[in-house]
Order: sequence, then structure tokens, then C-alpha cells
Amino acid sequence: MKTLTDLSPAEVREAFKESGFPAFRAGQVLKWIYENSVTDFRNMSNLSKSLREELAAKWQIDSLREVKRNSASDGTIKFGFALHDTHIIESVLIPMENGKQTFCISSQVGCAMGCKFCNTARMGMVRNLSPSEIVCQVLYLYREAGLREQHRSFNVVFMGMGEPLANLDNVLKAMRILIDKDGMNLSRRRITVSTCGIVAGIRRLAREEYPPRLAISLNAADDETRLKIMPVTEGNPLSELLDQLRRYPLPQRERFTFEYVLIRDVNDRDKDAASLSRLLNKLRYKINLIPFNPFPGSDYLAPDPVRIEAFQQILFSKNITATIRKSKGQDIQGACGQLAVSVEKELG
Ligand code: SAH
Repeated sequence: MKTLTDLSPAEVREAFKESGFPAFRAGQVLKWIYENSVTDFRNMSNLSKSLREELAAKWQIDSLREVKRNSASDGTIKFGFALHDTHIIESVLIPMENGKQTFCISSQVGCAMGCKFCNTARMGMVRNLSPSEIVCQVLYLYREAGLREQHRSFNVVFMGMGEPLANLDNVLKAMRILIDKDGMNLSRRRITVSTCGIVAGIRRLAREEYPPRLAISLNAADDETRLKIMPVTEGNPLSELLDQLRRYPLPQRERFTFEYVLIRDVNDRDKDAASLSRLLNKLRYKINLIPFNPFPGSDYLAPDPVRIEAFQQILFSKNITATIRKSKGQDIQGACGQLAVSVEKELG
């Protein structure tokens, strides 16, 4: 059965036409899905019962089933969703201080990148998510956040499980559906793609009509240190990564975000902080310092709080904007880099 949320709004209209439904029916259904987050034909109350049945026999809308929900003391909620083939992905709903919401979504089941400090990496690569599986995470969190009235006051960040630029076709399709006026009608500024630094992927993203905001998981200021913790550095050295970023169509008032997971005695030395400003020369950016979040069986240690401060101070002294990310959802394993379903299960 075809899934409507795999299709762009224009393709939905085409599919309805081909099946002999009048054009306005497609418009009604798109409104239900993307304005009201209704993903079950049975609840589309302005369609006749027989039409709803006819549509439901032909298409499905939703591709996720909630199987787990953990609420943290700070309001963060981590969802586990089962896919049609029983694999599970996680998405996190994060309330921000400014009253807005951040939806942290997954792009793959597992991940092939092998970052040494990341829990998802230990699952290995299982499979790519379809456009629908990506879009439906946003629809689900949108519904859960009760955002019907304040329509667009949320941000979508591809910082859940997986490397979005390793599933670029489907991520791009999902992004276009989110941005489309007849889709979620979301501004491109509200979407951030976070990548471990796949140069060819960034190049492709730059050619999009609406390139998203970009966050780059840097985590080291030189190739040697980076290679120890991020194998992706092998084919994507920092020089090429930085060259590519300098060519990215970054709007005047925006800047890149560099994420830097501080790991004790690995990349938290004074000289690492000092090298960063030289490396990032001539770019507009801010740095997000993320203290390493340990997980069961992880090889590394969280940095000493004194080191975190010192690292930030060195960046300040070079006029770099650097914030220390307060990890949300710590108590439910919903924080940065902690998402990984099957590993959790294996470890019991
Ligand atoms: N593959 C993408 C998105 C997923 S990771 C990327 O690499 O950006 C999202 C962020 O979590 C990355 O910045 C990553 O460096 C960080 N992260 C991964 N494991 C972590 C951990 N154990 N503690 C803190 N941050 C972690």
C-alpha cells in the first residue's frame, strides 16, 4: 500500500487525480494531515464515510506506532516508535526556555559512521528511514506538543539516530514536504541538519532551493585527534570540510553551529580550544560545547566541570560565541548521543 506522507503535496494531488478523485479532495486531505496532524482517514470529518473507507483501502498516512514514552523531570519526552518492519527509532520532544519546542528526530535506524563516543553507533547501520518515517516523527511530535494554535513555533533538528547526510535523498524529500506551503509550511530556518561532516552531502545540500541550517559535529580541531573518535574524518579531512562550508549559501544573519562534545583527556585540552579559532577562521559560527554523556559500557569519561569552564573561557578570549549545552532528558537516556534502542535491549 502506498504511503501518502512519502509524497510531496504535488504528488499527492497527482495520485488523487490518477485515481479519479476530484482535485479538491487532495486539498482537504493535505489540510487534515499537515494543518491538523490527522493521520487516520476515519477522523477526517468533512469527508463522507464511504469516501474515507475508499481512501483508507488505497493509502496509508502514518508509518509510526508509538511503543514507548519516557518523560524526564525537565519536561523532555522521549518516544520510541515501531516501524512497519518492527525496527524501533527514537524521537525527542524538548521544551525550550523561550516557550518554543524542539523536535529532535532520527534519519536512520542505527548509523554507519562509527563515532566512538556515540551510543547509536554501537547499533551499526540497520536501514535508512523513508521520507514518510521522517515526516511522521514531526507530525507526531507536533500533535503531542499541542501546537495546533501556535502553528510554527517549533524547530526540527536532525540530531536523533543516524547521519542525515548518509540518507540524503530521503532527508531532502522529507525536508521539502515540511517546507512546502501545502505541506507543513515550515520555514527553512526552523530546520537544522546536523552532520558528522560528509563533504559531498554538504555540497548537495548547498544546491537545494531552501538549504537548511547546518550544525556540524566537529569534536576536534585537528585531523589526528578527530580521526581517533570519528572515522568519517578519513575521507573527509577538516581542510575539505571547512572549504565546503565556506561555499555554503549562509544567509547574512545566520551562522553555522559547531557541536563539540567535550571528552575528558581526549579533546578537552587548552591547545584544542586554542586551535579551534584558527581552524574556523573566516566563518560565521557559534560553538555548542556538549559535555560527553556517558552511557552503559561507554569508553570515555565526562570532562571535569573545571575543564569545561576553562575551555569556554579560552574561546571567549578569542571572541568566539560558545555556549555550554545543558543536556535535557538525562534521566531518560534522551540526551545527546544516548539514543540507541537495540543496544539498550541487548544490555538488558
Ligand atoms: N549524525 C549526526 C546527528 C546525530 S548526533 C551528527 O553527527 O551530527 C547529534 C549530536 O550528538 C552530535 O553533535 C554528536 O557529536 C553528539 N553526541 C553523540 N554522542 C554523544 C555523547 N555520548 N555525549 C554527548 N554528545 C554526543
